[in-house]
Amino acid sequence: MRAPPRSGYRKTADPASLTLNTMTALNDRIDRLIRPELRALRAYQVPAAGELIKLDAMESPYPWPDWLVDAWLDRLRGVSLNRYPDPAAEALKVQMRSVLDVPQACGMILGNGSDELIQMIIQAVAVPGQCIMAPEPTFVMYRQIATVCSLEWAGVALRDDFSLEADDMLAAIERHRPAVVFLAWPNNPTGNLFDREVMEAVVSCAPGLVVVDEAYAPFTDESFLSAVPAYDNLLLLRTLSKIGFAGLRLGVLAGLPEWLAEIEKTRLPYNISSIDQLSGVFALEHYEVFRQQASTLRRHRSDLFAGMQALPGLQAYPSETNFILFRTLHGQAQAVYAELMAHGILIKNLDGSAPALRDCLRVTVGKPEENAAFLSALRRALPAAR
Ligand code: PMP
Repeated sequence: MRAPPRSGYRKTADPASLTLNTMTALNDRIDRLIRPELRALRAYQVPAAGELIKLDAMESPYPWPDWLVDAWLDRLRGVSLNRYPDPAAEALKVQMRSVLDVPQACGMILGNGSDELIQMIIQAVAVPGQCIMAPEPTFVMYRQIATVCSLEWAGVALRDDFSLEADDMLAAIERHRPAVVFLAWPNNPTGNLFDREVMEAVVSCAPGLVVVDEAYAPFTDESFLSAVPAYDNLLLLRTLSKIGFAGLRLGVLAGLPEWLAEIEKTRLPYNISSIDQLSGVFALEHYEVFRQQASTLRRHRSDLFAGMQALPGLQAYPSETNFILFRTLHGQAQAVYAELMAHGILIKNLDGSAPALRDCLRVTVGKPEENAAFLSALRRALPAAR
C-alpha cells in the first residue's frame, strides 16, 4: 500500500485539471502575496519576429562578418567554463574605458544590459516613499523598475515637439524631490536630444542623482560623458546593444567612485558571464568595424527620414538615434501596423501606450533594402498615399 502524503504535501496539479475552486484558491493566494502594483503591471512584451523584417527593437541590422565570427569562435576556446567568471570583469572594463573614452576620474560598473544597471541604481535608493522621475514619454523600464521596487513615479510631460521644458521640469523636481531623475539622451521613443542647457539645469537643481542614459550615443555627436566628474550627482549609462552586440547584453555605468561603491552592493555576483566578458573584450577590439556601421546607419537614417517625409498623411520626427518615430492620421496607427506586418515588416506600435504617443509608430533604421521594403509597404498602408 502506498504511504499517505505527509502533512503539508501538495500534489502539483495538471493546470488543465484545476477545478474552479482550486483556481479561486490559487488566485486568492497570489492576491495575498503579490503587491497590487505588481499585479497591475504587465511584463515587458517582445513579439516574435519569425520571418518578418525586424525593425522593431533598435538592433543593428548587420550580422558579424564571417572572418570576425571565426576569430571570435577561436577566442572562445580559451574560456574555462568550469570556473566562475572574473567577478570584477577587469579586462572588459579596461577595454571599455579605452574604447568609450570613460574619464579616468570615473569608476565603472558593468551590467547584463543597461536594464540591469537601471535596476541596480533604483534598488540602491529604494526607501519607501522615495520618488523616481523622468520626462515622458521615455524608456518604459525606468517606471517599470520603480514600480517593482515599490517607489513613487513622477513623469513630467514633454512639450508637443518632445522638447524638455525647463520650468516644468524644475518645478516638478522642487515638488517631488526625486531620489533619481532619468534623462534618456537622445530619448526613446521620441528620438530627439533635449537642450543641453536644460539638462545642466536639471543636474544642478536635482537634490538626488541624475542619470543620463546615452543608449543611442553611437548615432549622435553629443555626450555628457566627459562632464560626469564635474558634478557630484551625475551618473552616465551606455550600452553595447545598439551598435551590434544586443545579444551580448552589456551595459556600463560610469560615475564618481563614491556613488558606484554604494550601487555596487546591489550587483549580484558574477553578473557578467565568462563568455560575455571574453566576447565583449573581443568585440571592443574590433570596435572600428561597428563604429563604421553606425556611421553608415546615420546616412541611411537621413534617406529613410526623407522618404517618410515625402509621404502624405504622416508626420516623421527628426532623430539622433537608430530609429524614427512617426505619427499617422488619427485612428490609423493600428491598421498601418497590421498592414506592414501583412507585408512582412515588424515595427513597434506605440499607439495607446501614452497619450502623447497617440497614433504613433516607431521604425528602426535597417539596411537600405529593408528601409526600401518598409517605405514601399508604408506607402501601400497609408490611405492618404495610395
Ligand atoms: N536605455 C534606453 C534609453 C533604451 O532605449 C534601452 C533599450 N531599448 C535601454 C536603456 C536598455 O538597453 P540594454 O538593456 O539592451 O542595454
